[in-house]
Amino acid sequence: MSTGRLTIDLDAVVANWRALDGMTNCKTAAVVKANGYGLGAPNVAKALFKAGVRQFFVAVAEEAVEIREELGQKPEISIFSGHMKGDTDLIRELNLTPMLNSVEQMTQHFETLPGHPFGIQLDTGMNRLGMEPQEWAAVAELVLSQNPTLVMSHLACADEPDHPMNPHQLDVFKQLTDGINVPRSLAATGGILLGPEYHFDLTRPGIGLYGGHPFEHATQAIELDLPVIQVRDLSEGEVVGYGNSWQADRPSKIATVSGGYADGIFRLLSDKATLYHGDIPCKLVGRVSMDLLTIDITGLPDIPTKLTLIGPKQSVDDLAKQANTIGYEVLTQLGARYNRKTYGK
Ligand SMILES: *Cc1c(COP(=O)(O)O)cnc(C)c1O
Repeated sequence: MSTGRLTIDLDAVVANWRALDGMTNCKTAAVVKANGYGLGAPNVAKALFKAGVRQFFVAVAEEAVEIREELGQKPEISIFSGHMKGDTDLIRELNLTPMLNSVEQMTQHFETLPGHPFGIQLDTGMNRLGMEPQEWAAVAELVLSQNPTLVMSHLACADEPDHPMNPHQLDVFKQLTDGINVPRSLAATGGILLGPEYHFDLTRPGIGLYGGHPFEHATQAIELDLPVIQVRDLSEGEVVGYGNSWQADRPSKIATVSGGYADGIFRLLSDKATLYHGDIPCKLVGRVSMDLLTIDITGLPDIPTKLTLIGPKQSVDDLAKQANTIGYEVLTQLGARYNRKTYGK
């Protein structure tokens, strides 16, 4: 087996959910969209269900299929993108709860599945999904007469605690929903950390469950180890890889490891990233290619069998920073080729 090994620690995911749940006095759902942020939605959902989670969110109806198969009818599975024309059969057959985003979606839902559970998503300023305030004003009475399960909105800047957009969206959300007799939800991971005013009746953490910023006290949930396929000695002046982008300025030892941009190791990390042999850092030299990386291991006391890209010395967010991106993108791009070992339940 010469693919990278991705170790997924479900106990860490559960510990993170418990920690976030412990910060509020309300219910805590779990967001498992994009295959559980790359960690494997069925396994993640199963572990969280065992830990007591009874409400899951996905982005689109299709993502609910394997979760319903794994967990049966008990948990509520809600869909952020709402009720699109082609979704009706899945929503009915799998008993999904769409978060309706517009009058058009509301009409679609009431006409095709009268009496079927639904929630409402309101736009409080992000301008991405949800009914606009005027739209809501026009249909609120009708909607409320049909007993929605939830009214929710989403914060655009919750990972910046001092951003004025946070209290602004909170204000708008309150104006739109104060006094209604329906459970409310505003906070994802960032919103939970903003404090109790933002919690309402239900929170919807995603990234924090998987160990990512802005939940700085999260337990890391994954480790990524790449096997060393070949080691060679270079003389001073020899070059490495596509475009000869790196040249040895001293006699060097180069390890070639399995893993490349086809596995979600961004090409932008060329000549930048660091991998670890235990605690010892080793520089990635030359370009990231599709399936391989070349690493300078000149300083190591022994020849390693693997090098660690994500682990105790380098978190998902550390790696994301080097690639000019965010932990969410690193996680959701984790390669399909990796040999995945999932521990805990
Ligand atoms: C993705 C998403 C979440 C989860 O956000 P995190 O920042 O990952 O906690 C919650 N609500 C909505 C509407 C989302 O799209």
